[in-house]
Amino acid sequence: MKLAMIGFGQAGGKVLDKFLEYDERTGSNIVKAAVAVNTAKADLMGLKRVPEDQRVLIGQARVKGHGVGADNELGAEVAEEDIDEVQGAIDNIPVHEVDAFLVIAGLGGGTGSGGAPVLAKHLKRIYTEPVYGMGILPGADEGGIYTLNAARSFQTFVREVDNLLVFDNDAWRKTGESMESGYADINEEIVRRFGILFGAGEVERGGEVAESVVDSSEIINTLACGGVSTVGYAREELQRDAQQKGLLSRFTGGDEEEVDAATTTNRITSLVRKATLGRLTLPCEVSGTERALLVMSGPPKYLNRKGIERGRKWLEEQTGSMEVRGGDYPVSNSRYVAGVVLLSGVTNVPRIKELQQVAIEAQENIEELRDASEANLQRLVEDDEDELEPLF
Ligand code: GDP
Repeated sequence: MKLAMIGFGQAGGKVLDKFLEYDERTGSNIVKAAVAVNTAKADLMGLKRVPEDQRVLIGQARVKGHGVGADNELGAEVAEEDIDEVQGAIDNIPVHEVDAFLVIAGLGGGTGSGGAPVLAKHLKRIYTEPVYGMGILPGADEGGIYTLNAARSFQTFVREVDNLLVFDNDAWRKTGESMESGYADINEEIVRRFGILFGAGEVERGGEVAESVVDSSEIINTLACGGVSTVGYAREELQRDAQQKGLLSRFTGGDEEEVDAATTTNRITSLVRKATLGRLTLPCEVSGTERALLVMSGPPKYLNRKGIERGRKWLEEQTGSMEVRGGDYPVSNSRYVAGVVLLSGVTNVPRIKELQQVAIEAQENIEELRDASEANLQRLVEDDEDELEPLF
């Protein structure tokens, strides 16, 4: 499916850059247009692939290109004030050629956290295409203010988009890794999962031999229930000899008996289980999911309708959903068979409840500290007996 992607804030911009790299590397063509928005000039300059004329610096009058310093209320205000400048960049996009918008942001900071929901609201008012959000939750070790920002932004962002795809940094951080290399791995994981999902709807029919190719409309319909989504992923490397046989069969015109149908089916069903029960982009309980989509990618020889049908049935049982779609995404030259599971409209998410609880505590602490420091300052500045008079 073709997306107009807008990266808001530093994390949003970096993930957008990574999607562009993924497109270049795999020839997926998911990103029809890219726009990066920020209040910090340095962050925009650090991007590698977003075209320079599609980088928008907002809030110059207020923060002079230095960012909003994790103040997401200011981030929202500035986005509101300078929305016309963002729209100016979006006007360069051939919107009739895109299937949807995707607004990407880290929810713990200031610019993306505050600005992304403002932009989503604006886009929904103007365009008929769906507007999806990609919200990145902060790690628990980032501290109270980031958690509070994320909890407030999450609430607002979900309301303003057609579906919020969530990635939880906390579930993916590794100990003993620098933040930068940690983010590099995490961003790679984000584009791998969402790249397969969105790339699935872009396969030209007839190009590859496939039994039931996933179409953009199936992704859109799965996301149409709204709310919050999470994505699971698992892959298996094909044995070297299997790969060679696969290659050989392409030259010799396909000898189907080379690939054992039962092995193929079992591989697919086990990958579906691993993807669903393994680490999700947002960890949650699978039961109670409103809709789901299963995408199996790999060389067409290793994808079969029976495996996908079984995987789909299993997902129906696990989620309790009556709307589970499934299909394949043929990639001839891949060394892997991979399964991506999109769970849309998840409601049983302990991580969000925990985030909100920590955010409420942080909010209370901040208020208490503010009151206390006001009182302390007054005690410091004013003399005990009130004998001194200020100048004016
Ligand atoms: P903003 O520029 O004010 O919107 O704030 P940032 O985007 O710098 O940071 C917001 C949050 O995004 C942080 O609290 C981190 O949790 C997260 N973050 C920052 N950089 C990255 C990144 O490269 N990848 C990921 N996955 N998360 C990031």
